[in-house]
Amino acid sequence: MAPWTAALERLRETVSTGRAVPAEFRRTQLQGLERFLNENRQLLQEALAEDLHKSDFESDISELLLCRNEVAFALRNLNTWIKDEPVAKNLLLQLSSTFIRKEPYGLVLIMGPWNYPINLTLVPLVGALAAGNCVVLKPSEISRSVERVLAQLLPRYLDPSCFTVVLGGPQETGRLLEEKFDYIFFTGSPRVGRMVMSAAAKHLTPVTLELGGKNPCYVHDDCDPQTTANRVALFRFFNAGQTCVAPDYVLCSREMRERLLPALQRAITRFFGADPQVSPDLGRIVSDRHFQRLQGLLRCGQVAIGGQSDPRDRYIAPTVLVDVQETEPVMQEEIFGPILPIVTVGGMGEAVEFIRRREKPLALYAFSRDSQVIHKVLDRTSSGSFTSNDGFVFLSQMTLPFGGIGNSGMGRYHGKFSFDTFSHFRSCVLSSHHLEQLNQVRYPPVGPWSRKLITWAVEFPNCTIQ
Ligand code: NAD
Repeated sequence: MAPWTAALERLRETVSTGRAVPAEFRRTQLQGLERFLNENRQLLQEALAEDLHKSDFESDISELLLCRNEVAFALRNLNTWIKDEPVAKNLLLQLSSTFIRKEPYGLVLIMGPWNYPINLTLVPLVGALAAGNCVVLKPSEISRSVERVLAQLLPRYLDPSCFTVVLGGPQETGRLLEEKFDYIFFTGSPRVGRMVMSAAAKHLTPVTLELGGKNPCYVHDDCDPQTTANRVALFRFFNAGQTCVAPDYVLCSREMRERLLPALQRAITRFFGADPQVSPDLGRIVSDRHFQRLQGLLRCGQVAIGGQSDPRDRYIAPTVLVDVQETEPVMQEEIFGPILPIVTVGGMGEAVEFIRRREKPLALYAFSRDSQVIHKVLDRTSSGSFTSNDGFVFLSQMTLPFGGIGNSGMGRYHGKFSFDTFSHFRSCVLSSHHLEQLNQVRYPPVGPWSRKLITWAVEFPNCTIQ
């Protein structure tokens, strides 16, 4: 028997009785989650520091605050979100009541990665609980300290009949995925995303896949180099570059590259001092295996800034590479570390071509003073999100959906989008048993007059009441 069998049975029982569906039950769970975040703030910060050397500020702004916001937003809007949503009717259904009911899927599996191990497990959890689901949470085994806190403490704040944490690495998770879930929400790599989707296909379970990839950052010639360098460096080196939406590489002209390099050096020194290894604000690589991979990437192209590393504390200096080839690993795989290659292109047209030749990214950045340039890049490309002259600030805005496209994922969440993701939109038509006289017109044999009337009653747009 698998270690999760009893817990899953308990959760399935709750799903079948509908115990997690009433608004009050959902509200209690969300309040429990809120208390967990408030009462364990320091413990969570310490766990993040142990796993990733995150500073308190980074932990707060990119993990805890975002979770607290999501809970508060869900609590404030829950009553509105869960209401049946009336829809416009055609003439055929004028005497019926037509609406969308937001039903919980039932048993939901949430699988998280290690890079923002609180944010990327608890933000989806808010949506799943708000929508009235029962949840199996599978945090990453790589961010061990956070995994421990989530496994030991979070269940104390939530009802055990609707929530459980399952632990394990690839092998255990592979077995867990053989179970039948009603929805799977996965955040991680495209490689594992494919495995999750094929496991889900066996049960026809719907999925959201929040994946990664390489996020381009185009810098136009008209930019102020220092302003651009400050912003690119901030978001590239945040969490030691281990961010799915970080700018992965810069595309710019050779002239702009020459102006950006000293500006990037100034930004790095300003943020992390002359020796970034002693800076409290620079994270560390999560594991030896990830460190080894990144060390390999440092051998691509030429090191223009940084390049130092120290395996003892898995430190990699904020690094800028130049003269990299498109065929080198640093331009083939998602970097996911504090390394920024600069690839030179002839101009905006060539940059757009470069981006379009590759998989659709999770995030795309463009820097220019000229709004026409920004709009051209926006119009001619596709990505999960698009930001001009800044980094991943869109994550702070719960009214914007977060999600990828193509190789960077499918589905979206945050704020109301999370609630919708974890809800089945059930089409409801409540008609009366009476009025049989009116219905006679629909029954065969349908004569020419009836046919005309019925067609007219359902044809758009003349008979749709808005
Ligand atoms: P990962 O795909 O290795 O792991 C994610 C989850 O899958 C973990 O819980 C892990 O235990 C599980 N897992 C790993 N191998 C498995 C296997 N063989 N079978 C079943 N389950 C398995 O991802 P990661 O290394 O934790 O995170 C880094 C990746 O996640 C990057 O590609 C990054 O871009 C992506 N990411 C995406 C987002 C987003 O929101 N789109 C956010 C963060 C990270």
